[in-house]
Amino acid sequence: MDCIFCKIIRKEIPCHIIQETENVIAFLDSFPKGYGHILVLPKKHWQFFHEIPINILEEINLVTNNIAKKLYQHRKKSYNIISNNGEEAGQSVFHFHVHILPREKDDNAIIFSHGNEKNQNYQLEKIAEEIKKIIIDYN
Ligand code: 5GP
Ligand code: ZN
Repeated sequence: MDCIFCKIIRKEIPCHIIQETENVIAFLDSFPKGYGHILVLPKKHWQFFHEIPINILEEINLVTNNIAKKLYQHRKKSYNIISNNGEEAGQSVFHFHVHILPREKDDNAIIFSHGNEKNQNYQLEKIAEEIKKIIIDYN
């Protein structure tokens, strides 16, 4: 698989491992948006969150939770848990990964923000009904 994260997992490209379990690896982002920017990912290649089996998601969650908890205990500061799924969502490496991004006040590292939602005229009731129907239909 010609994927940079698969190459890292196969040890063809070096990385700085933070934690490793049977099916999951966490390593430092090599172009960090802040101090201690970490990526958590399955060792097997899937692009999207929704493709990953629940037991592997659980393992990703355990590793993410462990790192976030210990960092928070140490830093007592904010952090983002982010996953970009698909090109339009900002995914640039198409091997699913979760970003753990420790934040500092005014660090300007945010990549997902709010602010424009008041200008958008979403019909929330209609949207909720549509999405609930989609979830039932696609059992
Ligand atoms: P995405 O944009 O897909 O959500 O995140 C991809 C992340 O992978 C980026 O934050 C980028 O800095 C990081 N990245 C890209 N290439 C490499 C690499 O070769 N090694 C490591 N450790 N991180 C990488
Ligand atoms: Zn891959």
